[in-house]
Amino acid sequence: MIDTLPPLREVIRAHDLRAKKSFGQNFLLDLNLTARIARAAGDLGGADVLEVGPGPGGLTRGLLAEGARHVLAVEKDPRCLPALAEIAQACPGRLTVIEGDALAVDPMAHLTPPVKVVANLPYNVGTELLIRWMTPRAWPPFWQSLTLMFQQEVAERIVARPGSKAYGRLALMVQWRADARIVLTLPPEAFTPPPKVHSAVVQITALPAPRYPADAQVLERVVAAAFNQRRKMLRAALRGLAPGIEAHLHAAGIAPTARAEEVGLEAFCALARRLAPPSAAD
Ligand code: SAM
Repeated sequence: MIDTLPPLREVIRAHDLRAKKSFGQNFLLDLNLTARIARAAGDLGGADVLEVGPGPGGLTRGLLAEGARHVLAVEKDPRCLPALAEIAQACPGRLTVIEGDALAVDPMAHLTPPVKVVANLPYNVGTELLIRWMTPRAWPPFWQSLTLMFQQEVAERIVARPGSKAYGRLALMVQWRADARIVLTLPPEAFTPPPKVHSAVVQITALPAPRYPADAQVLERVVAAAFNQRRKMLRAALRGLAPGIEAHLHAAGIAPTARAEEVGLEAFCALARRLAPPSAAD
């Protein structure tokens, strides 16, 4: 039974789990808070959950207590494994722990759809994992939703709208294929040890199909080029993409003198379609 497990502070003391910076460790020890994050992922009853970086297992406990069918937890720090084994023992057959780097593990070898991803991510790999989860060749992806903790500044870039400073590549690549919103903001003191900045949980729900048709790689190239030089007018920023870029911009309904941050997702997709038609996978 999950309620019979000792408090997390005791677990940390018993297994000498002092947080290490090299692993990006800022632990959540308040089980009410981890339960709230687990609930933000919606009904876990019929779902398998992928958790990246369970650490001492606070969020893992929340996910299991909220009824996740099966949790696959991928943890790089071997010191955490004994604490996680105690949770697995309390929930027979519902928790699988893999020691390893989440960037190198194929989660689908261990998961049955529907799959939700829930994680208090190590900040150093968080954005890379998000980009990877958002950019498979084919859509829909292996996951139904992502409930992820980020530095607040990164969370704001994910949900940003055109015209704002935070709007850019991350917003476009996420919002093209998913709904994204911030569901919880946490002060540094919520973590042990406290990080320097505020954090926020973003709830990302995969759409059945991208909002507008476009080839994923072409769209990525257009958006990357546009925002690499976000102060420049698009006719200059995108000059290297294709000959006659001004005409393509006009045809996509974009003023060649516009700057990237003024242009919405629909127009970027129209431009990507002008440059290359979407493939069957999109
Ligand atoms: N989920 C725990 C919590 O909420 O208290 C720990 C969160 S801590 C911010 C990030 C966790 O990710 C740490 O346990 C760390 O060891 C682990 N980690 C760091 N890099 C990782 C990687 N590449 N793959 C898997 N886990 C990683």
